Amino acid sequence: MFSLLFIAAETFAQQTLDNLLPVRGFSIAAPKPNEVDRFIKFVNEELAPKGINTLLLRVDYNFQYESYPKLRDSIALSKADVKKLVDAFTKKNIRVIPQINLLGHQSWASKVVGLLRVFPEFDETPHVKMPEKYEWPNPDGLYCKSYCPLHPDVHKVVFALIDEICDAFKSTAFHAGMDEVFYIGDDKCPRCGGRDKAELFAGEVNTIRNHLALKNRELWIWGDRLIDGKTTGMGIWEASMNNTHRAVDLINKDVVICDWHYERPDQTAVYFAMKGFRVLTCPWRRPDVTTAQVEDMARFRKYATNGMKDRYYGIMQTVWMGCGQFMDNYYGVKTEMSERNKELAAKGISDWDSFRAMTKKIDELSKAAK
Ligand SMILES: [Zn+2]
Repeated sequence: MFSLLFIAAETFAQQTLDNLLPVRGFSIAAPKPNEVDRFIKFVNEELAPKGINTLLLRVDYNFQYESYPKLRDSIALSKADVKKLVDAFTKKNIRVIPQINLLGHQSWASKVVGLLRVFPEFDETPHVKMPEKYEWPNPDGLYCKSYCPLHPDVHKVVFALIDEICDAFKSTAFHAGMDEVFYIGDDKCPRCGGRDKAELFAGEVNTIRNHLALKNRELWIWGDRLIDGKTTGMGIWEASMNNTHRAVDLINKDVVICDWHYERPDQTAVYFAMKGFRVLTCPWRRPDVTTAQVEDMARFRKYATNGMKDRYYGIMQTVWMGCGQFMDNYYGVKTEMSERNKELAAKGISDWDSFRAMTKKIDELSKAAK
């Protein structure tokens, strides 16, 4: 009898939490092969007990792809490593969503990465040479390179990678990144030049979305390209200054938007929900902002119409450092850090303190809702 009561109480607590915020997410770079066991321990001891039910793993080329082995990182997860991870997540009812950065983020600083490393012919801006020493701002407006979404051979590769990684992770969703795309519809691209940038962006989103839909998988993307940077004052990073934002009305409504805002708790989740999308608010490292974002999302759901409520999908902590480095910091192990990050961390401004603030606020709100 007592055990039945206990199960009933557990189920009720779970329902309360799911009603408060259906998705309690955590996003991080996939662990390196030698970090797999430690990460599973972290999942079992920290993520699952704190109610995290969705894990976005930025895998990119940290996987031993068989379709295009040349794309693999020099040290990359094997199928057996991935199976071990997936088994651990499944035991804890955590949904895993693998990510490969598509369209943008095909270079970093002075190095070409991603698809362009192996397929330079996919470069949207081959006339922009990689600098020896990268500096921002620069005359080319080079932040990251993009691939050309209209190159006739690009999707053969992209689709093979997506299928392989989703099969390996047994995932029902895939995250395509697609944030901070500065190079799109370049005037000098023989295929894209002169075309509408919003249509080009939406075309690529829908192409990937349609491919995933063939296997009943859904597409998740970052939301910044869909926000008007000029009107909102949000600028070129967390919003679009190159007119891609009108794509918000051109992409399929079943794409899930990961709406990241790191400095202020911007209310853009309302915008995406009103446009018909499920939306997650994504904090980074300012615990006060994170706490407000959890409160906002819970409040949006509380006062939403039935039509809108399910679109306020939840919250997802983003971590922008290596998996091992995050765990070191989380557990207070000393690691190499830039002076600036050290200074901020000393003030409690860090990915790990934000994560603690997020889960603390979720816990408080769910207790109050009982
Ligand atoms: Zn092009």
